[in-house]
Amino acid sequence: MGRRKETIVYPSGTLSTSTYEGSASAGVEFASNLDAQKSGVVEHYRPRVSYYMREQAGNFHYGKLHPMKPHRLTLTNHLVLNYGLHKYMDVYEPRRATEEEICEFHSEDYIDFLKRVTPDNQKEVANCFSEFNIGDDCPIFDGMWDFCRIYSGASIEAARKLISGSADIAVNWMGGLHHAKKYEPSGFCYVNDIVLAILQLLRFYPRVLYVDIDIHHGDGVQEAFYTTDRVMTCSFHKYNGDFFPGTGAIDEMGSGLGKFFAINVPLQDGIDDNSYTQLFKTVMTAVMETFKPGAIVLQCGADSLGLDRLGVFNLSIAAHGECVRFMRRFGVPMMVIGGGGYTIRNVARCWTYETGIVCGAELPAALPNTVYNEFFTPDYSLHPQLSGRVINHNSRAYLNALTARILEQLRYLKGAPSVQMQETPPDIQGFLEAEESQKTDVQNDRLKDSKEDRRGRREHLAEFYESDHDQDAEDGDDASDRRN
Ligand SMILES: [Zn+2]
Repeated sequence: MGRRKETIVYPSGTLSTSTYEGSASAGVEFASNLDAQKSGVVEHYRPRVSYYMREQAGNFHYGKLHPMKPHRLTLTNHLVLNYGLHKYMDVYEPRRATEEEICEFHSEDYIDFLKRVTPDNQKEVANCFSEFNIGDDCPIFDGMWDFCRIYSGASIEAARKLISGSADIAVNWMGGLHHAKKYEPSGFCYVNDIVLAILQLLRFYPRVLYVDIDIHHGDGVQEAFYTTDRVMTCSFHKYNGDFFPGTGAIDEMGSGLGKFFAINVPLQDGIDDNSYTQLFKTVMTAVMETFKPGAIVLQCGADSLGLDRLGVFNLSIAAHGECVRFMRRFGVPMMVIGGGGYTIRNVARCWTYETGIVCGAELPAALPNTVYNEFFTPDYSLHPQLSGRVINHNSRAYLNALTARILEQLRYLKGAPSVQMQETPPDIQGFLEAEESQKTDVQNDRLKDSKEDRRGRREHLAEFYESDHDQDAEDGDDASDRRN
């Protein structure tokens, strides 16, 4: 692909070299000519990509019947590395977020609770469970606080990487936990890494665009920035008033200074590839032209794929990835993060494909060998057939009306006197100096973390991974019924 090869930092001593090297990186091809279709699109864009991964993140366990399986991260990383994509990105093992950083959004009471509660002492603090929304969806599990610090630390680092200008796209599949609220967890999400990352980006960029293609409404992020015109949130999701989290109607548009800066695209069951990508491109083209963001955060929840354990859409991996490809073409600094996704073999395929897209790589459909081959039977393909399970309940008339209404909202925004379109953010120099002084802290944290790891800290008593079986089981556990 002809771009310089950069330093690659492998996760410290945890990833077996033999597992990752000498694998099927041959066959990876790079797009040589992006067919720019829209104004504002950067041709021949060769972004520098940073990728954040920490092996431990895949070992946490919400509970046997819980649909959220962090193990999907391990599957994704194995596919990404065995396709050889690490050769085209800077791979980092990020530091953990500090409590202070997490409290930039969350309340101290809530974080204090999250920090203290463990499966062993949870009976003693059970009186706080209803206050903090602890239950089937958001259980107390071993290492929960550490898990939050890991995925949030990665999103914060990814944001800072973009600000520093040393990456154009930063990928953190561990992050994207869009439901977490200031005072409580929600929908499998405890700490809202997206809000924390956007708060970082706002220190430098006057305007940040948040785009969410998870099947669930990005309610936590919308709520956090509902009254500001510096963040536009744009969520595509299933909505019928009942489907989790119950918000995301088209008339939720923001308030105060933020009026018109929240965009909601409520969809019905079974939306297919063509309808979705057409709608996405029309809306995002208008959003980009109107809002002109300095940075984009793209939440790529993979529960909008067909055959998701909790989802009800019909999207293929190619269509899901097309949304990533489309946003990449604008050439604006972008964070790409994970989110939902509960048929984990497809989540891993999807996020691998999308890692290829951000790198400008075309991956062969035949999956490379990994120690997790069993998950990808019988086809061992990057693009299994996922559509066709659910009838498309989104009529052409419905989608046309939806599009017209959103474009109308954007026209209001264009005329709104409160829109801050100044290009120069305040005090860039002060910000960069602060970043420079933090670098050392980051390095120290890394050293400390790797020392702790070497001491063999036991984080998870739960099994390392379980078979994909219960992923597909039509089990009746409460959490899956809540469809988060
Ligand atoms: Zn979701």
